[in-house]
Amino acid sequence: MTRIVWLCQDLRLHDNPALVAACAEGDVIPVYILDDAAQLGGASLWWLHHSLARLQESLPGLILRRGDSASVLLSLAAQTGATRIHANRHYEPWWREAASEVAAEVELFLHHGNQLADPASIRTGGGGRYKVFTPWWRNLLEQMPPGKPLSVPAIDVLDGIESDLLSDWNLLPTRPDWATRFDAWTPGEEGARQALRDFLPKIEAYNETRNLPSVAGISRLSPHLHFGEISPATVWHVASKAAGKAAEPFLREVGWRDYAANLLDQLPDYATTNGRAAYDRFPWRTGAQADADFAAWTRGRTGYPIVDAGMRELWATGFMHNRVRMIAASFLIKHLLIDWRRGERWFWDVLVDADQAANASNWQWVAGTGVDAPMMSRIMAPLSQSEKFGARDYIRQWVPELAGLDDPYIHDPDEFGMRPAAYPAKRIGHREGRERALAAMRETRDGLD
Ligand code: FAD
Repeated sequence: MTRIVWLCQDLRLHDNPALVAACAEGDVIPVYILDDAAQLGGASLWWLHHSLARLQESLPGLILRRGDSASVLLSLAAQTGATRIHANRHYEPWWREAASEVAAEVELFLHHGNQLADPASIRTGGGGRYKVFTPWWRNLLEQMPPGKPLSVPAIDVLDGIESDLLSDWNLLPTRPDWATRFDAWTPGEEGARQALRDFLPKIEAYNETRNLPSVAGISRLSPHLHFGEISPATVWHVASKAAGKAAEPFLREVGWRDYAANLLDQLPDYATTNGRAAYDRFPWRTGAQADADFAAWTRGRTGYPIVDAGMRELWATGFMHNRVRMIAASFLIKHLLIDWRRGERWFWDVLVDADQAANASNWQWVAGTGVDAPMMSRIMAPLSQSEKFGARDYIRQWVPELAGLDDPYIHDPDEFGMRPAAYPAKRIGHREGRERALAAMRETRDGLD
């Protein structure tokens, strides 16, 4: 029997339950469909190109098609006589819609391979779903460890099926090629496995170093996990075996990825809709001045060194350290009073790990608009955060205008009268930004009474 394997964010051969199930039933047609409904950003397309190129090497016979996922799958099934489709479950709304269209016409077998556990299986005592991390995590831990990763099956690919050429998809940027510094990444399954191996010697120190942008203490696995080049179950088992209990702080972070999928599964509009409806009336700034502030933020020219370092790292490499993501997002939302959704869209376009669930849930968490976040009550002080988390070397790397400054001046050169002429002045003072944000919060809260 011929089976179709519908690949999406599971671009791997190891621990791929959909692939294993299909191969056990006969010959297979593995297909990746480039679907406009996914609205992939520029950096994601770059990654996708390289990841698919690697997968074509390890899985000759991988079919590439462009179009509406359901239509492509149904016509492929009709053309080849394949009566069943296997896929690993995803939680983005466009994918779920496509999956239900397919399931209405042919047998679609969905497997759980992209999360530590099936989000729907984690339930409160009353059978409901969790919206807050800590009780959700406790419940998830009861299901851990995840099943042992599956081996690569013997794959018998059905030959002779027409495929697009990857190069015809033009996924890579050309004029200009803004991805020249993305070369530090190695997309693909082997790159993912190597990234995990490289991280293992750092895992025991992770809890102390993970918040320090100047230290290489994090795994940088996020784009690999997003594209499914490695399964979270593999990460769990390898990390636990290497470090035992010392792996726990790291695995808890991996848990946040599952938790984000759990939220998106419950709230499909989470990337565009405030988790707390009270924020629908929040007085976000709009107009020319707000647009100019937003542009300065995207270019790393806000006058706040830690924010600018992060935004420049992001533009150059498609990545930003998590602590800096929080600071940069908070600055946009609170100091500049710009709607979190504008920041979310920018990240979506420029992050190599852009992930609808993780991006939306983190932006909403920082904004205080999320179902899991306290209302916009805390305002992060970017300058003291920068000092507290030892960002000097990180700033020196990404903001060359400030490379000659030392602690404490580098965190706030304006304050010390040491701002080089080439470095922009602050878009807004910290105190002024803070007062304005608090006033906007009060306005929203009072409107509720
Ligand atoms: P590590 O610290 O090594 O953690 C290991 C893995 O755990 C990560 O690869 C990731 O899969 C997961 N993880 C860690 N922290 C989080 C978190 N807070 N939420 C969800 N998963 C987490 N992560 C994305 O993968 N895609 C995004 O689009 C994304 N957008 C973000 C936007 C904002 C505003 C913020 C504050 C965070 C965002 N994150 C996102 C979460 C986090 O910043 C990245 O997962 C992390 O920086 C990736 O680096 P790492 O792989 O070295 O992480």
